Amino acid sequence: MALPSDIYKDFPFFTQHGKQPIIYLDNAATTHKPQVVIDALVDFYTTSYGTVHRGVYTSGEHATTLYEDARATVAAFIGADTDEIIFTKNATEGINTVAYAWALHTLQPGDEILLSQYEHHANLLPWQRIAQARDAFIRFIPLNADGTLNLSTLDELVTPVTKLIAVSALSNVTGARTDLARIKQSADRVGAKMLVDAAQLIAHDTVNVHELAIDFLVFSGHKVYGPTGIGVLYCKRATMHEMQPFQVGGGTVFQATYTDATYLEGPHRFEAGTPAIAAAIGLAAALRYLQKFSMRDIKVHEARLTRTAIDALTQFPAITCIGPMDELKEQGHILTFVVRGFHPHDVAAFLSERGIAVRAGHHCAQPLAEMLGIGASVRISFAIYNKLEDVHALVSALKSLLKS
Ligand code: PMP
Repeated sequence: MALPSDIYKDFPFFTQHGKQPIIYLDNAATTHKPQVVIDALVDFYTTSYGTVHRGVYTSGEHATTLYEDARATVAAFIGADTDEIIFTKNATEGINTVAYAWALHTLQPGDEILLSQYEHHANLLPWQRIAQARDAFIRFIPLNADGTLNLSTLDELVTPVTKLIAVSALSNVTGARTDLARIKQSADRVGAKMLVDAAQLIAHDTVNVHELAIDFLVFSGHKVYGPTGIGVLYCKRATMHEMQPFQVGGGTVFQATYTDATYLEGPHRFEAGTPAIAAAIGLAAALRYLQKFSMRDIKVHEARLTRTAIDALTQFPAITCIGPMDELKEQGHILTFVVRGFHPHDVAAFLSERGIAVRAGHHCAQPLAEMLGIGASVRISFAIYNKLEDVHALVSALKSLLKS
């Protein structure tokens, strides 16, 4: 069954003052929020507000229940067990937690971390710091010319000194998908841990961590119709036992003296201080909302928009689209391009004047932009509430740009 065509009406941003304020094509950066998420935040602050794991009074206990229920909702959404879910601020904090709570004390001089050449800075810079601190090395899975990963040398890249493979499930620049199962095979051959950055996948396809059999997975709530300030780090139970507390303080402690402390086991060990309670509850509301639809329908809808955009944009001789076009037409939601004769920021500004929001720049993947030889580019990205009319409006605005 297709997604309802008026799904955008669930999102008050698009119906404010009775009309759509902008055509929003920057969903890979962040998504708008359905009313149910806003209601969950308002309800919590209005009727149930309290802090968690402390108050023995009713509202404190209720807040704790809501917060822990949110953890269970997240776990069910990604096929994890509840005690494998650590709430973080965002995907970036999730990766930094793995870097500082696991890698910093596990890696030995000479060990290697394998990344891909299409990582977002969030999954590159923490590893640079860890490699410097531990005298370890970073290696990269190279790219094919179309911006997909070239796995032909994977088995040479993964050796007994490879201790971690950390890859994005889907590039935020080329929209290419990673063959996670193939990479996991290589990781298993040498006993390396595997981290998946699911920031760009979580709102667009089914994710099941137990099927993937990986150690870590991260995503941000704000890219999956949830609030900002909340993210998720999935951590396989056995691997969580290998992690040391990274940020410490209230909420993480089993017993503290003036000179030492012992720490809780499980996710609370890694959630120092008062957490983003309302945002976690809002994230759970977002995931429950998304579960009303089938991921298959979401994929079909977003791929149709992407295919329409590719078919139209590739007609313009001045526009070069970047990425694996056939793959994107089948299952994409991101499309990146450059327009000959126009700087990407000028393209974005021109579109903005016509009420169309797109992203321009290096998309927080500067080494990739240089590797692709394009520097900056324009990126459009779709969500469930986008319509074919949004693509038509973009195409007609680009036509005017090229005539200008
Ligand atoms: N990884 C990828 C692939 C991303 O696209 C992003 C956000 N653009 C991030 C990580 C970081 O997400 P956040 O800024 O929410 O931590």
